[in-house]
Parts: sequence; C-alpha cells; structure tokens
Amino acid sequence: MKGEILSVGTELLMGELADTNGSWVAARLPALGIQLQYVTIVGDNLDMLADAFSRGLQRSDIIFTTGGLGPTQDDLTREGVAKAVGETPVVQQEVVRDLERYFQGRGTAMPATNIKQAYLIPSARFIPNPNGTAPGWWTQRNGKIIVNMPGPPGEMHPMFEDQVAPKLREIVKDEVTITRNIKTIGLGEGAVDETVSEFFGKENPYLGIYAKQDGVHLRIIARAKDAAAAQKLIQPVEQAIVSRLAPYVWGYDEETPEQAVGQALVQRGLTLATMESVSGGYLVNSITEVPDCASFFKGGVVAVDDGLKIANGVPAEVIQKHGAVSQQAATAMAQAIRRTLGADFGIGVVGMVGSRSDGGRQVGLAYLAIAAQGQVKEMELRIPPRRAVMKRRLANTALIELKRMINAL
Ligand code: AMP
Ligand code: MG
Repeated sequence: MKGEILSVGTELLMGELADTNGSWVAARLPALGIQLQYVTIVGDNLDMLADAFSRGLQRSDIIFTTGGLGPTQDDLTREGVAKAVGETPVVQQEVVRDLERYFQGRGTAMPATNIKQAYLIPSARFIPNPNGTAPGWWTQRNGKIIVNMPGPPGEMHPMFEDQVAPKLREIVKDEVTITRNIKTIGLGEGAVDETVSEFFGKENPYLGIYAKQDGVHLRIIARAKDAAAAQKLIQPVEQAIVSRLAPYVWGYDEETPEQAVGQALVQRGLTLATMESVSGGYLVNSITEVPDCASFFKGGVVAVDDGLKIANGVPAEVIQKHGAVSQQAATAMAQAIRRTLGADFGIGVVGMVGSRSDGGRQVGLAYLAIAAQGQVKEMELRIPPRRAVMKRRLANTALIELKRMINAL
C-alpha cells in the first residue's frame, strides 16, 4: 500500500516549528506494510489543502495528516478534505454534547468556534481523542483512505498507536518491514564492522552500520508477510550480534541513554547522584525525563561556581591544585556528590566552553568521572566546543559509560 503524509500548518512552512510529526509517523509505516512516497508540508490554506488531498488521492492509497484540526479559523484540514472529495460537513450533535461536557469539566463554557470539531462528512468516521478536544477523521472512499490526526504530539501519538495502527493492521495485507536497532559504544565503526562482518551483504535480513553521536548503531531490517515472521528473521542475527558485542551494547531501538541507565539501576536497586558544571543541568534534565526517575535518581547539583562545588563536599585543595577543569576535579565532584547524597554511583562533569582558554587548556576539552564503591572510571573528551553539542555529548557519554559499568557488575 502506497502512502503519503501531509504535515499541516503555516508555522511549519515558516520554519518556526520542525515537522517532528512527519518523521514520527514515517518511522511507523514500514512495520504496517505501508510504503511511504511523499511527506509534504502544507500551509493553513483551504485551496492548497484541497489541492494536496486531490493529488494525494490520485497517487497514493492512504494519506495521513497531522495538524489543522483545532478550533480556530486557520485550522482547515477538515474543510480541505471535504472540498477535495466534494462532500458537505454536517454538525454531529452527540459530539457537540461531548465537547460541552469537556469544557464544563474545566469550569468554562465551550467557545462557539469549537463547534467545527463536531463536523463530519458522510464518508468519514470520527477517531476519538481522549487527550484533547479535536477528534480525528477516518475517511474511506473509492478504495482510498484519509487519516486526519491532531497536531499536538501528545494527542497524535496515542491516537496513532491505539486507534489508527490497529485498524491498519487489519486492513493492510502487504509485506511488512521491521527494524531492530542495536546501540553500541566503546568500539570504533571498523571494529564493530569486523566483529559482525558475516551478517553484512545479505538482502533479508539486511544489516546496516551507522556511526552516531551516541556510538555505533547496527540496524537489522527484515521484510516478511507479517510482523511475527519478520521477527523470526531478525532474532538469530540479533542474538549473534549481541553475544559478540555484549560489553559494548547499551540500548535498543528508540531507547535513550537515560532510559537505559534508569532501567539498569532500577533492576539492581541502585541509585545515582550527579554534579555537573559545563553541561549546565543537561544531565539532570535528561535523567528526569525518565518516568519514575525518583526511584533511582537522588538528585544533581549544577555547580558552576567553585564555591558551590566546595559547599557540596569537593575539597578546595583539589580545585586549587589542579584547576576546576581537570580530571581530578571531575573525580572529586563524582565522589563528593555520591557521598553527600548517599548514592551508589556519582557522576562528575567539567569542561571548557566559551571563548576562554585557560592555562593551555583548549575549549572543548572535558572530563568525566563516575564514582562507585571502591572504584572510579575517568575519561577525557574533546568535543566540538558548541554549547548545545557539548552538553548533549557529555550527558550522553556519562550515562552510556555508567550503563557499561553497571553491565560489568
Ligand atoms: P494545529 O492542530 O495545527 O492547531 O497544531 C497544534 C499544535 O500541534 C501546534 O501548535 C504544534 O505545537 C503541534 N504541531 C502541529 N503540527 C506539528 C508537526 N508537524 N510536528 C510537530 N508538532 C506539530
Ligand atoms: Mg495549525
């Protein structure tokens, strides 16, 4: 089945908002047997929308849209579909009542403009939206499907996963494509390549290798008549790869370093505390993205000024003797915060950023330390000295190295 995505919104065309919905939906189509052909950004304009739908209906079997389902005048996705298929929207009274109840629950009356969220054309069915006011539309006509979903990712993701994808699994009978992403760190691309070389060069499952900011990824791609059959192709290759690269594997698929660490710590009932300077709280921010982080994360100090490091247990002599950007300082920070908060692991992060170069130390130079009972892992890194890159790279590296340390316990 051939598909396309329309990401709707003038703010996308203006470059004010990145089209993350488009790539999120795109990533999920191969497993459903849908071959994506186009991703198009369309502004909030009725004629352009109607035109995009008409063209889409000619060249694709299914069109997905996100955005433009809001209550305001510039949200015109429904109107665009209606115009393209030549049907007239009719207000559905039961949906008006649902909307009124939703607003009552929030202690306000429904604004008159929201009425258009209760419109429906004869060929469309509502897709309920438990997370917002805009229901989606599922339109089926002349063998073609249009799926309209709301723009906010917090509403669109559950609508796709819980309602759209299950329906598509029943309908689409084409071959599905499943991928498994194995994320490693600690070996270069060449060494990883060599270790698993016999799996390269095959059609199905296909193995790809990619050097990324968080290590080397191996991606296994399998095609089969359904998901279970594709999994069967992937499984032996995955097993062989993981058994050879075990000490270097830190995560799978969409897993982030913080999720991998969180899971590993919770499994073993261990805890973590952090003290960072140059990463400016990025490490704490990443860790606190993990649901239930309180069960393994004691907390973190963002100690830019040396006084704050010392107040949290870093010996003043270490900083005086070696400087704030030194391996010794990072290690003292990791050990101090581990002790102060009574955690099993402590992470310390320091580095040079900005325009200053101090005592021959280069901007982009950073030190990491991970302290545990009776041991400490130390690392010197050289990173492109752009703040955003440094913060992300340091936080990711610290977490992935911690994951490897836990693996080795
Ligand atoms: P809309 O339904 O067009 O009013 O969009 C509502 C909100 O959803 C926007 O303000 C964005 O925050 C978000 N949104 C819409 N389209 C996208 C997209 N393609 N990618 C990411 N976020 C989006
Ligand atoms: Mg919009």
